[in-house]
Amino acid sequence: MLAIRARRLFDGQELHHDRVVVIENGRIAAVSGDAPATVDLGDVTLLPGLIDCHVHLAFDASPDAVAGLEAPGLIDRMRAAARQHLAAGVTTVRDLGDRDYLALRLELGLDGPEILSAGPPITTPKGHCWFLGGEAAGEQEVREAVRERARRGAHVIKMMVTGGEMTPGTHSHQLQYGPAELKAAADEAHAHGLPITGHAHCAEGVASVLEAGFDSIEHCSFFTEESVDVDYGLIARLAASDVVVSVTAGIVPGSMQPPPRVLSRLPGIMETIRALYAAGVDFVIGTDAGIGPPKPHGLLPYGAEMLVQSGYAPIDVLRAITSVAARTCRIEERKGVVAPGFDADLLAVEGDPLGDMSALRRPVAVYRMGERVRLS
Ligand SMILES: [Zn+2]
Repeated sequence: MLAIRARRLFDGQELHHDRVVVIENGRIAAVSGDAPATVDLGDVTLLPGLIDCHVHLAFDASPDAVAGLEAPGLIDRMRAAARQHLAAGVTTVRDLGDRDYLALRLELGLDGPEILSAGPPITTPKGHCWFLGGEAAGEQEVREAVRERARRGAHVIKMMVTGGEMTPGTHSHQLQYGPAELKAAADEAHAHGLPITGHAHCAEGVASVLEAGFDSIEHCSFFTEESVDVDYGLIARLAASDVVVSVTAGIVPGSMQPPPRVLSRLPGIMETIRALYAAGVDFVIGTDAGIGPPKPHGLLPYGAEMLVQSGYAPIDVLRAITSVAARTCRIEERKGVVAPGFDADLLAVEGDPLGDMSALRRPVAVYRMGERVRLS
């Protein structure tokens, strides 16, 4: 039995003081104010292990992450990428685009985070990220693509609703699929009990995802051909819906700059992020870890800091990367909360992240199903 004392506990919802979390057989057995502790972590805040809702373990965060897919040893690099998340206190990742369903086959057990995976994202022929192998056109092919992912054990369906920045020949401000294909994908996913999320970089894409009945939206940017044009009316519709926005946040300072087309849009991107919160849209964070040098694996704490700097209340950010993320990933029965019966995936950080979110970057201890992770 393990009993961890911490000065502060954020349980996924609220902050408490001086708590002991008792762990038995990998799960939380009790949370108490006065149980005897076997480990006293001192002046730390204990939290549920963090959940990054959008990563790409197959991308190596190099300047040409797509070329990196071709080098031998891809599965080993994916394992190393997964361990980087765990060492940062990210005990669950949702991989929204791998190749050959490799993210389902890493077999890391407690030597990595829990991995939820979409497999190759569904995209149009030569569409955004076609090189990951998920091309499908027309309602029938789209339905079959969803069924294949369900058969292979995917945890979520990811669909490229618009083009994207990393695929030449595709355009972020243009739709890739029509309403019938999107509806077919959403219906098929739901028939298999799976959530579906849509990559959407322009207002038309966001509106299409909303109308097709997807569960969440990745990026939710309002790119035009050259700039950003925030659609406040559409954001109000999002706020009134059950759709969760996975905000693409997190850039490691001092790393190589984002590409010029993204850099020039940064003020618009930041305004979108601000407006989503002001309108009360349900949100999680998806870092897009791996796609380039500003986004190394394990950068979720930087994403949390970015949102606080954008005016988000720290407690809402902590909820987003724990309990709300667990709900979005449909693992809310097991993850994202520190309470009896939940998996003992835990993160202890120095100080108080509610006062200074940079505390998340200073992990003191990480536990995965009650096992202490070696931090290097
Ligand atoms: Zn992505």
